[in-house]
Amino acid sequence: MPELPEMEIVARRLGEALAGEAIETAVAPGINALKTFDPPLSALEGARIDGVRRRGKLLMLDAGGLTLLMHLMSAGRLQLFDKRATMRDRTMRVGLRLPGDRELRLREFGTRQRAWVKLLRPEAVGGDESLERLGPEAWPDPPALGPLLKAPRPLHTLLRDQQVVAGIGRTWVDEILHAARLSPFKRGDDLSDEEAERLREAMVSELGRVLDVYEEQVAMPLPEKFPKPTRVHNHQGEPCPRCEGVLEAVFYEDYVMTYCPACQTEGRVLKDRRLSRLLK
Ligand SMILES: [Zn+2]
Repeated sequence: MPELPEMEIVARRLGEALAGEAIETAVAPGINALKTFDPPLSALEGARIDGVRRRGKLLMLDAGGLTLLMHLMSAGRLQLFDKRATMRDRTMRVGLRLPGDRELRLREFGTRQRAWVKLLRPEAVGGDESLERLGPEAWPDPPALGPLLKAPRPLHTLLRDQQVVAGIGRTWVDEILHAARLSPFKRGDDLSDEEAERLREAMVSELGRVLDVYEEQVAMPLPEKFPKPTRVHNHQGEPCPRCEGVLEAVFYEDYVMTYCPACQTEGRVLKDRRLSRLLK
């Protein structure tokens, strides 16, 4: 699932490429992808694109005083094509046709249709529920985390809760917790002030590190897969990048949580949920 660094680089690259361009036509062939009906998507036709912004994992394309709010969910990709599709592109959820036969396409891979877009007037942007309920940005300058994380829930869950702090998902949470030397299962309300500050610093530096890599390596056309510079997530069985201990993992149904026992859990190997279920 694309997270803050992926969406940030997409917003930057598309913003650079699209600013000033006029939208010729706007279509939404994906059933259910467009969550609003007023104004209609055709209201974008003839509008000039002002830019592309990011909030949490959401993208906002501003054009003609309207905002196209997009959530790619886990399998969506937003890409600019030099040529419009000659055959029907079944993965296309929304398409903006631009001069010179180019087309910005929100495509979604896999069987489920979960990516969505909304077209909002300026007065609706502030009150939109998916934007309104987002917590503060995880990067570049999040507030002190102590008060935000004061809940009897594990850090691994809290940090991925978009209402607590916006932008982090299953990949970068592992890197952040490892950088902060904190257990993924430590409860938010058990954090000391020093730990909360360490976590905040790790969050800013890890997300910044990833973004620096993308700044260097991600160019147009946007790749379908990003060159994810992970050091911990999904590296179970490999040496810890900090202490040379071995990284362990807990496997969930559709994702993996990787950590270093020596750096994060005082040497304890956490129960593997998959294994314990199989053994029942
Ligand atoms: Zn370690």
